[in-house]
Amino acid sequence: MELKPTTNETNESSEATRSLHFIEQIIVADEKSGRFGGQVHTRFPPEPNGYLHIGHAKSILLNYGMAKEFGGKFNLRFDDTNPAKEDVEYVESIKEDVKWLGAEWEDRLFFASDYFEQMYELAIRLIEKGKAYVCDLTADQIRETRGTPTVPGTPSPWRDRSVEENLDLFRRMRDGEFPDGSKTLRAKIDMASPNFNLRDPVMYRIVRAEHHRQGNKWNIYPMYDWAHGLEDSIEGITHSICTLEFENHRPLYDWFLDELGVYHPQQIEFARLNLTYAVMSKRKLLELVKTGCVDGWDDPRMPTICGLRRRGYTPESLRIFCKTIGVAKFNSTVDATVLENSVREDLNKIAARRMAVLDPIKLVIDNYPDDKRETLAAINNPENEADGEREVPFSKTLYIERDDFMEDAPKKYFRLTPGAEVRLRYAYYVTCKGCVKDENGNVVEVHCDYDPETRGGQSADGRKVRGTIHWVDASSALDAEVRLYDRLFNVPNPDDPQNAGDYKDYINPDSLKIVESAKVEPALADAKIEDRFQFERVGYFALDKNSTSEKLVFNRTASLRDSWSKVAKK
Ligand code: ATP
Ligand code: MG
Repeated sequence: MELKPTTNETNESSEATRSLHFIEQIIVADEKSGRFGGQVHTRFPPEPNGYLHIGHAKSILLNYGMAKEFGGKFNLRFDDTNPAKEDVEYVESIKEDVKWLGAEWEDRLFFASDYFEQMYELAIRLIEKGKAYVCDLTADQIRETRGTPTVPGTPSPWRDRSVEENLDLFRRMRDGEFPDGSKTLRAKIDMASPNFNLRDPVMYRIVRAEHHRQGNKWNIYPMYDWAHGLEDSIEGITHSICTLEFENHRPLYDWFLDELGVYHPQQIEFARLNLTYAVMSKRKLLELVKTGCVDGWDDPRMPTICGLRRRGYTPESLRIFCKTIGVAKFNSTVDATVLENSVREDLNKIAARRMAVLDPIKLVIDNYPDDKRETLAAINNPENEADGEREVPFSKTLYIERDDFMEDAPKKYFRLTPGAEVRLRYAYYVTCKGCVKDENGNVVEVHCDYDPETRGGQSADGRKVRGTIHWVDASSALDAEVRLYDRLFNVPNPDDPQNAGDYKDYINPDSLKIVESAKVEPALADAKIEDRFQFERVGYFALDKNSTSEKLVFNRTASLRDSWSKVAKK
């Protein structure tokens, strides 16, 4: 099938003929048949019990993407039906993350808890139809009487209560007359169904918990399966996209809506995102935060949206990532390299180039006048001419990377070694004369002569050099702390149940290395938090929120190239 969306602002013409993924195909077919009156209305329904991660980003971009592509609407809805673990801190962080990703909900921000009254009324309708009953079994007893895949469940002794008795008991459950957990409201479906979800599932349980929006108003709370379809129905959602685990729940989703005779959206399941070298369960992410394994939810090593953002990822890089991995019906695990490449791809296009020296050693140009200062023009981004040039100060004493000098260099070393000529990026050719060592034999200064005829890094006589190195001018350099992040885990599958021990045993001890005394060029004084740069020859970096006017702090977003694949090939 070919792509024929009604509105199509983001897709380029080269994409106009790409094949549709299965959800697009469903939507196109529904538009054609006139189902849902040709409308598309999707939602992202997070439970506010944690921060969002890259898997949620996939869901957000998919749901928002479908609405945008087909000229429809997108809702942000908090599925806040489980008061125990929910919190307004999470509500606020989720709103911020969804907004940052560029998914616009306009005036359609909803809370499932605002529908509790309607849900209660609909539950009464089911009781009146004889399709729901109050059950006095405990949670354990319900589990024990559910049967097995081959043995039908045992009907509850309370299954045949009269409608009147059920109505009375359900009202009293709501009024708080019974202790927590002592009764439930259950749908009366089929205790012999091959699908466990249809063996009289629980719709309401008694919990006295303070809800972050409803306070103590409710003593009963709806279960996910009961609530979710109603939320979709109330909001007029057309395509209710969820992850594959809910495939077995779809018959129940459909049963509730059909029995009630209310508007009925289509549930569609897709494969959740799993990523190597990461854990994605909210419980584990929370544990990493609580146990201090990481520095909060937005630690740049976390797969959370705020962590990736702090690390230097852009919304565009996450869109590139999601486009690359596609939408599928079968679970798989995506290699972390795919995510890292997506940010390289975007930052290569947009990040300003700057010079930064992480492990500085002085380079003194002996034949350069002591008091001379000049500025040289440096290109901001070779991928984008419109970004123009900047001025970089230059003088007799510079900083270069310690490993760009070697006293006894092997043959293929094309950087500074006595006698060798190299290009200082944007500046001059210099020829190494030697070095100065301290009493322990450590090199403390490298000395060279420059060729004044090579200003701008080109020689008039066409003479070539093999190496180009970056540098910063010593007198005007700014101090910076640079945080070199790497993958948080050192095995691809940290939460594989086959592993010995706990996933936390696989934390990569080298996932953060702090460089305290880097030197960076003065143009970086203007950087704002989250601005992203390519430090030439070093990698991609973003200015961290811990930066102060005394000390800039940069997070490494990614190395310039994928160093892990090289390791794997060796
Ligand atoms: P839990 O329900 O255990 O708290 P959850 O990750 O499912 O965790 P929700 O807040 O319910 O969290 O998720 C919101 C939406 O994000 C759901 O529609 C869910 O299907 C989707 N989602 C969650 N994790 C992923 C993932 N790894 N890949 C794709 N979509 C995901
Ligand atoms: Mg969920």
